Amino acid sequence: MEKLRTVRGVHDLLPNDLHNHNKVINAGLDISDKYNYCQIEIPIFEFAEVFTKPLGTSSDIVTKENYIFKDRSEDELMLRPEGTSGVVRAFLNAGLVQDVPQRFSYYGPMFRYERPQKGRLRQFKQFGIECLGLSSSMADIEVISLGNDFLCRLGLLNKINLKINSLGDFESRNNYREALVNYLNDYQSNLSTDSLNRLAINPLRILDSKNEVDQKIVKNAPNILDYLNYKSKARFDDICKGLDHLNINYTIDKNLVRGLDYYCHTAFEFTTNELGSQGTVLAGGRYDGLSKMLGGPDVPGVGWAAGIERLALIAQSKFVNKTDVVLIGQSENINYLLLPIMKKLVQKGIKTEIIYNGNLSKKFKRANKIKALYAIILGEEEISKKVIKLKDLKIGSEEFLDLNHAIEIIKINKDLE
Ligand code: ATP
Ligand code: MG
Repeated sequence: MEKLRTVRGVHDLLPNDLHNHNKVINAGLDISDKYNYCQIEIPIFEFAEVFTKPLGTSSDIVTKENYIFKDRSEDELMLRPEGTSGVVRAFLNAGLVQDVPQRFSYYGPMFRYERPQKGRLRQFKQFGIECLGLSSSMADIEVISLGNDFLCRLGLLNKINLKINSLGDFESRNNYREALVNYLNDYQSNLSTDSLNRLAINPLRILDSKNEVDQKIVKNAPNILDYLNYKSKARFDDICKGLDHLNINYTIDKNLVRGLDYYCHTAFEFTTNELGSQGTVLAGGRYDGLSKMLGGPDVPGVGWAAGIERLALIAQSKFVNKTDVVLIGQSENINYLLLPIMKKLVQKGIKTEIIYNGNLSKKFKRANKIKALYAIILGEEEISKKVIKLKDLKIGSEEFLDLNHAIEIIKINKDLE
């Protein structure tokens, strides 16, 4: 029989992968909790409208990359391609509009029919946060600062750059749009087919085209920052000042845009050079128009989403999965005496494995493989002296100790690792 396999771009998460993903998720949950963001969980599939209405007909994730299907009641459903629309939908459904601000964090799988490659999957996970009900530039700064602290917790700040830009308010954005179309109209014969299509529907998206010729053309395009009205410009300056105040490094990238209509003002991305063209690890912005598009009242919002696989790929060397201690009996008939020792260690929060199989040398090979820090060894001699032998597997030293004393040593040193 031919072996069954997973769908292209969809992977099993084996213990090692999941260990790394969970490290990323836990860092995210922990730092967002400290910023007073509360975790929520929203469905993995929704009525397709939740995504098609706000994301419109010009976004790739809804037009080209969607997983859309009808269920047995003929309802049109979509596997979620992103988290923000669902979070805002949940916020509106729960009647939280009168109870703002609301700060949320979430994580889970997203689905996009893309060309799979390293850091680009069809089922992937995002960790994200959304701050709803605050239009102040303080909220934008808070959200970027939270993203920055998240990456800092993962030890990634030296591998990552922050790029920011502003799209201004709707008036500024419309003025810019007009200027951009005027400029691009002269290059119609050189633009890629995709960009040519976007020229009429969503010209701002052309700024982020990956096509080389397009990129050359947009290099000299009008600068969006020159089209910000006074209020929008002042708002962007405030955000830059806030980041300076927090010593967060950034560069202003005039071509960084969010193509969707509900975005305004701040757009930002944290990128790395380590993942080729999949270099964006965390991206976000302000989306004041989204709530209205979902049928709700005007509710300002700002947030970001980070790719968990991409972060795990660049941070994995820091996430070694260690075992605190292994228990080894000198002979088979001693193994059962290791069980109460294991029970005691586990109660003390020490990660323990009894190694039953093989001769001594095989047992130490196993200890090495699971990256054990210590071995507790029990033989006839130890039993008669009512002690255990504690071996520090890193430096190879051994000493006879009372079990309680050994536990203290393990507890102190495992947390230093
Ligand atoms: P990209 O330009 O890489 O396609 P995007 O603009 O589509 O990214 P967003 O919709 O802003 O990405 O999603 C936020 C983050 O989610 C991205 O920065 C990335 O880290 C991650 N991400 C997006 N699509 C995928 C995917 N197909 N596989 C893995 N991670 C992804
Ligand atoms: Mg994409």
